Amino acid sequence: MDVIKHNKPCLGEEEKLAVWNVLSSGWIAQGPEAEGLESDFVSFLGGGGAVALSSGTSSLYLALKVLGVGRGDEVILPTYVCSALLNAIFMAEARPVVADIRDSDFNIDPGEVEKALTDKTKAIIVPHTYGFSADIPAIREFGLPVIEDAAQAPGGFRGQFRIGTLGAIAVFSFYATKLITGGQGGLLFSRNEGLIEKARDYREFDCRKEYYPRFNFKMTDIQAALARCQFKRLEQFINRRKEIADRYLEAISSTAGFQTPDPGVEPVYYRFVLLLGSAERRDRLRAYLHSNGVETIVPVERYELLHNYLNLDPSRFPVSERIVDVTLSLPLYPALTGEEITKICRLLETAPL
Ligand SMILES: *Cc1c(COP(=O)(O)O)cnc(C)c1O
Repeated sequence: MDVIKHNKPCLGEEEKLAVWNVLSSGWIAQGPEAEGLESDFVSFLGGGGAVALSSGTSSLYLALKVLGVGRGDEVILPTYVCSALLNAIFMAEARPVVADIRDSDFNIDPGEVEKALTDKTKAIIVPHTYGFSADIPAIREFGLPVIEDAAQAPGGFRGQFRIGTLGAIAVFSFYATKLITGGQGGLLFSRNEGLIEKARDYREFDCRKEYYPRFNFKMTDIQAALARCQFKRLEQFINRRKEIADRYLEAISSTAGFQTPDPGVEPVYYRFVLLLGSAERRDRLRAYLHSNGVETIVPVERYELLHNYLNLDPSRFPVSERIVDVTLSLPLYPALTGEEITKICRLLETAPL
């Protein structure tokens, strides 16, 4: 039995050719392809500036730096998120302040953000969880710079606004499991030219007359060419993901719950994360799928919740603590074959829940 992987990049002949062209050109470091990726994003997001970087994490770190966040400053972020955000905040020598999420769409709860504000708060990092837009307009009301973490949501919308255009800065990731990949890579976007200038200056670390500590966060043209090739297919990828998500939704309609987007939000279905009601049901479904050759993951485990890494009182984060027990992520990516999708749907329909 061939196992259906939880994740798999969608790579074809175009990608091979794009990478091969860079190799043949003799220029493999940051160059015209990285610049091209930046222009692609600027056109896509309707103006502004973009800086191609080595990862989503370095993009988050640099976003904090260019906003002037440093020692003693507080940065608010959700507890239900990967540790990359925490790493970026600590690397900037700032203090993380974690807030709970909403159970509707697993995004940071604006009410909890408000409770976490102090006079030391310098920025708020807001991820769009699994491709569902968080409520950036509500969070912007607090008058602080919002960094949109769009690693899981390029191409999504809130009303007429594209994800990435509502915050002071947006960051993207091109890691292997994201919607579009360069193997690794990241990108910082902003409409504020001053912030973009600072990010560019930081990235060009070598042979500078005016010295201050900068770090090598460059993206290679090999990665950029791959990411650009994938970017051309983004819309097609998003549509395919939605088709697959619709099939799953139909198959599980009566037995499990799913993220509910805010009104007007168009998600991009980065992940398909079921809500199973209890840990027992979740574990039963996981075992059933596993024994039938379908890999799933628990997208965030309890120990990964940032408040647990930080040894804070878990009772202050009831939604996240509840959700980690009952969630299960199914394979969802454009490289899934029709046969594999049908198999997963049939298993969902017949699962002993
Ligand atoms: C993947 C991811 C990151 C980190 O990106 P890397 O490119 O892996 O460093 C940050 N935030 C979110 C929400 C992510 O999904």
